[in-house]
Amino acid sequence: MIPVCEPYLPGNELEYVIECIKSNWISSKGKYIEEFETKFANYCDCRYGISTTSGTTALHLAVASLGIGEGDEVIIPTFTMAATAFAIFYTGAKPVLVDSEPETWNINPEKIEEKITENTKAVMPVHIYGHPVDMDPILEIAEEHDLYIIEDAAEANGARYKNRITGSLGDCAAFSFYTNKMITTGEGGMMVTDNEDIAGRARALEDMAFSKERRFLHTDIGFNYRMTNIQAAIGLAQLERIDDFVEMRRKNARLYSSLLEEVNGIRLPIEKDYVKNVYWMYSILIEDSHTMVRDEFMKQLENKGIETRTFFIPMHEQPVFHKKKMFIGESYPVAENIAKQGLYLPSGTAIKKEEIEYVCNTIKDILEE
Ligand SMILES: *Cc1c(COP(=O)(O)O)cnc(C)c1O
Repeated sequence: MIPVCEPYLPGNELEYVIECIKSNWISSKGKYIEEFETKFANYCDCRYGISTTSGTTALHLAVASLGIGEGDEVIIPTFTMAATAFAIFYTGAKPVLVDSEPETWNINPEKIEEKITENTKAVMPVHIYGHPVDMDPILEIAEEHDLYIIEDAAEANGARYKNRITGSLGDCAAFSFYTNKMITTGEGGMMVTDNEDIAGRARALEDMAFSKERRFLHTDIGFNYRMTNIQAAIGLAQLERIDDFVEMRRKNARLYSSLLEEVNGIRLPIEKDYVKNVYWMYSILIEDSHTMVRDEFMKQLENKGIETRTFFIPMHEQPVFHKKKMFIGESYPVAENIAKQGLYLPSGTAIKKEEIEYVCNTIKDILEE
């Protein structure tokens, strides 16, 4: 089976992990934490990095650090991974949904303003599958309506918008280091920001909100979202290679696109001229006009030893939110379509050229039969 993604640990990962164990620094203090946080934040053109246990907790920390909670609303794309919406719920605030833009599958900036109310506090754009969101119109809206911007950059580590790196485009951003992300710590995440006040609040909340004056005195409800030194050791070794990883994923995507270009009935991922796409997952649509439906296509690939994944199910179609009497009857046609037609192909950083060729030949055989 060619897996949809595998971790790739080619550098100093093992050496640094051994160092943690030899030195006995295996918990959430130690030299790798500080070094990983600083270097990762700097990679994202930010001064502050606060490491966490996952991308989901990094998102929650970001929302909480901005003081968003009960009664507040945060605008997100309906087409995203559930963590984006869950992170808002954890604070007591409510997500408000916006449809996708048909070419990039990202939040449609033109549909944001109609969703702003007096309770709106932030917009959380998500750089879907590695293609950065068109941020300038969103930054303008945020300026005009006095809203925060939180980037969900979990899928776009290393990607650029108009030559600015993801993570630096709003007030703060969240990254994930789950095994299939651009760099991994097994599980883990990081919030980054260039704002000292936001960073200070995040730093406190992430570690139980102990009071600075007196430990075990609390003026806030804090979380334990602390990353371990062992995870940071892996993360640091991965970060040393991130530029290579980005180029490898881009090269894999170029190969896929050149081999699939002529195949009828599928739509390939794009790269707008204002971005550098990292192609976190090489994602395609089975177009309406083709007689084969997406799920049948995926089954046939599986029979040939090729693992794939469907696109996300939009948030407005999730039973968990309907149970909360939310999003019922709402309709977002672009997101609904791509959710039905989309899938992603094996996309691990270290996937072999022959594997991509096999996947593409198999796709041709299936669709051109
Ligand atoms: C992976 C991902 C997350 C969550 O990250 P975890 O580390 O799995 O908690 C959040 N948002 C998006 C868009 C993601 O792809």
